[in-house]
Amino acid sequence: MVRKNSNLDNSSTGGAADEIKTELSRLKAKLKASKRKKPKTIPKSTPKKITVKKKATKKQAEAKKKAAKKQAEAKKKEAKKQAEAKKKEAKKKAEAKKKEAKKQAEAKKQAEAKKQEEAKKQEEAKKKAEEEAKRTYEEELEEQLTEEEITEFQIHKTDMDKLINHVCEIVATYGNNGIHQSDLWKKLKLTSRDGSRLALKLERMGLITREKILLKGRWTYKLIIVKSPIGTDSLSGAPCLVCPVESKCSLDGEISPKTCQFIEDWVLIELKTKK
Ligand code: SF4
Repeated sequence: MVRKNSNLDNSSTGGAADEIKTELSRLKAKLKASKRKKPKTIPKSTPKKITVKKKATKKQAEAKKKAAKKQAEAKKKEAKKQAEAKKKEAKKKAEAKKKEAKKQAEAKKQAEAKKQEEAKKQEEAKKKAEEEAKRTYEEELEEQLTEEEITEFQIHKTDMDKLINHVCEIVATYGNNGIHQSDLWKKLKLTSRDGSRLALKLERMGLITREKILLKGRWTYKLIIVKSPIGTDSLSGAPCLVCPVESKCSLDGEISPKTCQFIEDWVLIELKTKK
């Protein structure tokens, strides 16, 4: 371009213009020719470069795939680990729950056993209290006194035979219904202590029986006659005393009190007069 300008400076105006035009035409032609000769080539990668690139891409893809696989495996492993930990935890919880349930069942069982034992104790205490409440003064006396002390019982300055007959006569009047011992002791003006001992004595003698009864919330006895002792008064009218066949009379003989009409008549009369 410098050269061109130099040319322009060194020539005349008309010639220079033609020269420029010619030069431009020549350049254009040259450019056109060069364009035709050397078509614009698109730079292409060499097959080697493509292979390397492809390999790199493939490698990258594989690495990516591998990484993804590794990640998936790690994820899977983690998930498995978490699942196992969860399972372990659940198992642990279930075992703890089972243990707690067993403990509670054991505690419940123990409480039940304790409750039953307490109930049993209470029942026994109640029974004992009931038995205690049922215990009578006579029962205590029977425990405290010897058989001799009972059978040999005497009341000071009292004819015991006479008292016993009198008691039996009164008790006999009540028949099988019997009489409450406290009522009898009142009639005879005896203390409960003496009356109770006397009742035991009469029972030992086989004259009365004692029936335990609950009277006004207290346990006592009803006395029932078994047999009346024979007094001398009652014997005064006995037919045997004047019997003509008394010498031939015996329990196992032909003439016997068991079949004696005199005795039967006398007993009937005695009973009527007693009433
Ligand atoms: S039981 Fe009869 S027969 Fe015998 S002595 Fe007496 S009254 Fe006589």
